[in-house]
Order: sequence, then C-alpha cells, then structure tokens
Amino acid sequence: MKHRLRWHLSLVVVMAAVLVFTGCSSKEDTTLGAIKNRGKVIVGVKYDTKLFGLKDPATGDVEGFDIDIAKALAKKVLGDETKIELKEVTSKTRIPLLQNGDIDLIIATMTITEERKEQVDFSDVYFKAGQSLLVKKGSTIQSIADLAKGTTVLAVKGSTSATNIREKAPETEVLELENYQDAFTALKAGKGDALTTDNAILLGMQQQDPNYVLVGGTFTDEPYGIAIRKGDTEFVTTVNELVKELKDTGEYDNLYEQWMGVKPD
Ligand code: GLU
Repeated sequence: MKHRLRWHLSLVVVMAAVLVFTGCSSKEDTTLGAIKNRGKVIVGVKYDTKLFGLKDPATGDVEGFDIDIAKALAKKVLGDETKIELKEVTSKTRIPLLQNGDIDLIIATMTITEERKEQVDFSDVYFKAGQSLLVKKGSTIQSIADLAKGTTVLAVKGSTSATNIREKAPETEVLELENYQDAFTALKAGKGDALTTDNAILLGMQQQDPNYVLVGGTFTDEPYGIAIRKGDTEFVTTVNELVKELKDTGEYDNLYEQWMGVKPD
C-alpha cells in the first residue's frame, strides 16, 4: 500500500514537472506568441508628440509616424492593421511599462543608447533624429552656445535630451517636465528660455505654433529604435524584418514624407 502511494506521488510530481516544462516553452512566453494568442498588438506610443504620436481630443484618434509603423506591424503579424491597442507612454514610463508586460513593444521616439540596452532590446534604427532647441521667435538664444548662466532650458523627464543638455550646456538650468505638451506649455508661459529635444519633435511643435522656431541645428545623434523586452530575439527579428520590408517596398519613404514633409536622406 505504502509503495503504491509513493508511486502515485512520484507520478504526480513527474506530471507537474511536465506541465511546468511545457508551460514554459509554450508560445505564450514569447511576445509574438502572446500577440497571436490574444489577436492584437499592444503598443506603447506617445499621445502628445505631433508627427509621431498625437491624440486628437475631438476624435480620440492617435496619429503619427510611429502609429503608422505600429499599424504596419499588426498587418505583418496578424494580417490586419486594425488589430492594435495603443497605450500612452511618456519618456519616463515607457521602459517600466514594457518590463511589466503592459505593452508588447515601444514605438515612441526612443533613442537607442547603451544604457537603455541594459534594460531592453532594440530593433535596427528606423528614424534618425538629433537634439536641437526651440525658442520664441526673436529670442536672443540662437544656439547651444547662448545657453549661458542665468538661462533656463525645458526638457522632459526620462529623455536623453535632459541628460545631454546638462553635459553640453553645463551652465544652464534644466527644468524637467512630465511630457512634451507640458514642456511646450511651459515654454509658452515663459518658464524657460528654450525647449530642448529631438529636431523632429520640435518641428511638430513649430507647426502647432509658428511663433516658436528651431534654432542652432542639431548637437547630438538620436537614432530611434523600437524597444522589445530583453532577450526576446524572435520578436526583434520580426520587427527588423518589418523595418526592412517597409524600406524595400518604398512604404517607409512614403510614410516619412507624409509626416515629415521631406524625403528621408
Ligand atoms: N529621442 C529622445 C529619447 O529617447 C528624446 C525623445 C523622447 O523623449 O522620447 O529620449
């Protein structure tokens, strides 16, 4: 009797082990598997960044270059570009949201950096930007050299721009806001002499209000990548395939020109 019980117990242990093992290697554990099981891609995007991801409060639609890349991914993976759920991220919240599993990937004006590579994996570069300055028309600040002692620059928390500006203009005071619309509102309210981030983001702000202009050219390289949970090489490959396909078919150039108003170089 005792033997039989022991035998049964070991069988239960073996079966549990098999379940755990097969569970671990099931499709659910890869981003691609999870997307296919649920039938939609959950993408972290900006809601406040014109040209990349901007929510229209009247319609609720979020539009921009990053959104169109997200739709193309849904089309590639699920055969239908509408099978996406967008979730708002900011520069500060995007990595934690990816790591928590709240989103499958980040397509949100995100620069590939060595530091970030310790936390997430990146696709190949899909957009090339560079950091610049936005000022009120007629401002005495015309380049980074003018950011002397006594000046204040606005930047966004969690962005490379906030880190870079401290290094490139150590005398200026940096005021960090939660997101880009708050930063632009602060600039308009006179809370800073300039706003700093990527040229392409500032271009969107200049379009929103032409009283504000880009000055001084770019002073960093900001290659954008799509961020994926660390270690998911299968999904990195899928996203890289997508970027390549978009470029090969000319779709990438069309989208670029549609949003940026010029052809990519
Ligand atoms: N590309 C820069 C970054 O990744 C600035 C834009 C942003 O804050 O998303 O930090």
